[in-house]
Amino acid sequence: MNKKKPLTGFLALNSASTNKGTAFTKEEREYHKLRGLLPPRIVSPEIQAERTIKNLRRKKDDIDKYIFLTALQARNERLFYKLVIDHIEEVMPLIYTPTVGQACKEYAHMFRRPRGMYITAEDKGEIKGVLENWPYKDIKVIVVTDGERILGLGDLGANGIGIPIGKLALYVSCAGIPPQQCLPIMLDVGTNNVEYLHDPFYLGLTQTRLTGDAYYELVDEFMQAVDEVFPKALIQFEDFLTPNAYALLNKYRHKQLCFNDDIQGTAGVALAGVYASTRISGLNFKDMRIMFLGAGSAATGIADLLCHALQREGLSENEARKRLWFVDIEGLLVKDRKNLLPHNEPYMHEHEPLGFVDAIKEIRPQVLIGATGAPNTFNRSVIEAMSNANKRPTIFALSNPTSRAECTAMEAYEWSNGKVIFASGSPFPPVEYNGEIYTPGQGNNVYIFPGIGLGTIVSESLSITEDMFFVAARTLADQVSQNDLDKGMIYPPLSNIREVSYNIALAVAENAYKTGITKAKRPKNLEQNIRDHMYSPDY
Ligand code: NAD
Repeated sequence: MNKKKPLTGFLALNSASTNKGTAFTKEEREYHKLRGLLPPRIVSPEIQAERTIKNLRRKKDDIDKYIFLTALQARNERLFYKLVIDHIEEVMPLIYTPTVGQACKEYAHMFRRPRGMYITAEDKGEIKGVLENWPYKDIKVIVVTDGERILGLGDLGANGIGIPIGKLALYVSCAGIPPQQCLPIMLDVGTNNVEYLHDPFYLGLTQTRLTGDAYYELVDEFMQAVDEVFPKALIQFEDFLTPNAYALLNKYRHKQLCFNDDIQGTAGVALAGVYASTRISGLNFKDMRIMFLGAGSAATGIADLLCHALQREGLSENEARKRLWFVDIEGLLVKDRKNLLPHNEPYMHEHEPLGFVDAIKEIRPQVLIGATGAPNTFNRSVIEAMSNANKRPTIFALSNPTSRAECTAMEAYEWSNGKVIFASGSPFPPVEYNGEIYTPGQGNNVYIFPGIGLGTIVSESLSITEDMFFVAARTLADQVSQNDLDKGMIYPPLSNIREVSYNIALAVAENAYKTGITKAKRPKNLEQNIRDHMYSPDY
């Protein structure tokens, strides 16, 4: 309790970070002048949490649950986080994918109160001053989007703010970054979404997107302003259009503490899944051939990290690249293909052009990874071709939200006769097939980014390296138990996420100290140091 200047009356009840509602004790009610403002019975935080989860479950639609949870976060932050942490498997899909996709689409129509910051094209020359309006100064994590490629849903403009808000709620819940150290930012450079531009409810700039130099100058000013106003902040780029995502990552990754979750976080979680799958399939990681459907930021990010991992196993860069094959909407990526982006070049092989299924039949990959945003692209013939080539094919249908997944879990198990080792980006419930229960894995970036964030913040790392994602992936894979593998799972249960994030943070911080890229000195007891950093919502 702050003895000097207590918040009193409605101010105390309206301060989400300190409000305890009906759980304020007798002494606290006296101290904050709350007598008469609350129903008389004082309830325990446990009863409060129980009432809240019951009320959440009464809502029929997921979007209504999202609205309920948003209101709770704005009313009693600690109760919100207790609910998320204690019921992570149930609540995470409501505050993040898949529900957040619908929430973003409808954001302007559902709008009740702002959260996070909006930096716009109109703030050019004044971004530092705008950032200084944020009431908290000790910001440690910023998640920023420009809303141009929200999940697999395309340009949602300023409605994309739902993504940074959701991701930061996961930083708090899964890695214990304190809520006041988190800042969601919408970099509003306009939108090319014609429907939104004509929608009177839309709340972003009603202009088409800045492009070219004007765009990059604005981002540059933003990055410098963050460095000055929040010098300890890690910046997570989220849901930028692929060419911008790569350009920004390449420009800032060695200068500032930043990473792109769509490229690098996805890569970490996919690499961990591939490692864990080898414990079921019995294959040797360094002998594998891996095929991607989709050649955008997610798929190429995964390939780059796989390459790094294969090199760690002793292959040369060239040998590693040869193991990784891409197919996009026009077929196999081969040397004479035109109009591909620079990030595709390392993976264009000397080969005759082939369609998708023929490529599977000829190249016989053991792992197939879909990151297209295009549903139904893993059809029966694709799954059958993978099953014919492998005893235990591994298939990732990573596209989000659920409606965009390349195939459903049921389809994968059914068409492979239960042989597949399957993971998806959005969650699928367990599947019963031929009397067996199969539990699909969720290759959710949440397994990686909170731990990376915590590890780099604690060690005051100066940048985030590719090797940190490798280390994070290995640590994640090691936390899949034999019991999980027996159920077909290649990720640990989400209910272990805080422990998973802690272990990743430890490995990442050790990696940072070892490579000498930290501002902080390694504390004697790093384990305790990390635990001490982790916020708990209990009161
Ligand atoms: P992107 O736009 O950069 O790339 C999409 C790629 O898919 C492009 O190469 C495009 O040519 C290709 N493609 C589109 N339709 C196709 C089709 N019918 N057949 C073959 N190829 C096709 O997007 P991205 O950032 O790479 O993201 C792609 C998807 O991955 C999104 O749905 C996103 O939600 C998902 N994703 C999932 C995770 C995760 O679950 N961990 C993380 C990041 C991205």
